[in-house]
Amino acid sequence: MYLMKDITRDGAKVLRERAKPVTFPLSDEDKKLAHDMMAYLVISQDEEQNEKYHLRPGVGLAAPQVGQSKAMAAVLVPGENNEILFKEVLINPRIISNSVQHAALAEGEGCLSVDKDIPGYVVRADRITIAYQNEAGEHKKVRLKNYPAIVCQHEIDHLNGVLFYDHINKEHPFSIDPNAVLIH
Ligand SMILES: [Zn+2]
Repeated sequence: MYLMKDITRDGAKVLRERAKPVTFPLSDEDKKLAHDMMAYLVISQDEEQNEKYHLRPGVGLAAPQVGQSKAMAAVLVPGENNEILFKEVLINPRIISNSVQHAALAEGEGCLSVDKDIPGYVVRADRITIAYQNEAGEHKKVRLKNYPAIVCQHEIDHLNGVLFYDHINKEHPFSIDPNAVLIH
């Protein structure tokens, strides 16, 4: 399983590369990667289990963040009452459509690969449709809005060498169009 020491930090070249497409059927190595990335998220969100591992809680983890330039990311988005809003390992994902309406997390975004706090709105699309393959290689298409849509855009960015703060307006970090949805 992955520990904090295994997480690639900002400055590493792999975080700025375009991740390579994953081929099917998945190799044993890729199956383990998918499993271990999701296991990180599950344990990091479970206070009891995490007492042992001290993982920084995460809702998404992309393969480049564990040093592997592969188009794969695990996403585990909990809701307010601990229900699961979205859980999937996205393989070769891409955004096939997005809303004109913008959205941003009111508290800004964070990233397991970025140790410092970088304030500012990360302006994204409020609603997206993504296409991806699951671990069985099946082609899936899903429509997401609000928080799960933000998380998936953050993760897909990782597969394109983009980090969240790239989207923050340098001069006016809290500028956002008045119609944008601020997600709390
Ligand atoms: Zn990240």
